[in-house]
Amino acid sequence: MADCIFCKIIDKKIPSKFVYEDDLVVAFEDINPQSPVHTLIIPKKHIPTMLDMQEEDYQVIAHLFKVANKIAREKGIADRGFRLLTNCNPEGGQIVYHLHFHLMGGRQMRSPFG
Ligand code: 5GP
Ligand code: ZN
Repeated sequence: MADCIFCKIIDKKIPSKFVYEDDLVVAFEDINPQSPVHTLIIPKKHIPTMLDMQEEDYQVIAHLFKVANKIAREKGIADRGFRLLTNCNPEGGQIVYHLHFHLMGGRQMRSPFG
């Protein structure tokens, strides 16, 4: 989608530090990391929020979880623990309206989330 910052990252029109790419998903480092590991994992398809997922998108997100598993292991945070989260709509804290998952770790996560 033309105005979407994450679509531009996928198309490499905006530079970012990629950590993974395949036909369905990409992962890149968050520009403003909130933890030592803060990687964004996103579907290549422009899906604004999780509420906009179509039936065929669910298998892509299942694949995305597999990629998250792989990245967490590669970054050495799997056994220590990590957080994988998505924000939805304004009160969920969503700022970028291209579905994405934050993979965060490398420090003790606190609750409530924030
Ligand atoms: P949200 O609040 O929508 O769940 O999270 C959006 C995330 O995207 C934020 O953590 C923010 O730092 C990150 N972000 C926004 N713009 C860019 C960008 O241009 N490049 C990268 N790598 N991350 C971005
Ligand atoms: Zn997009």
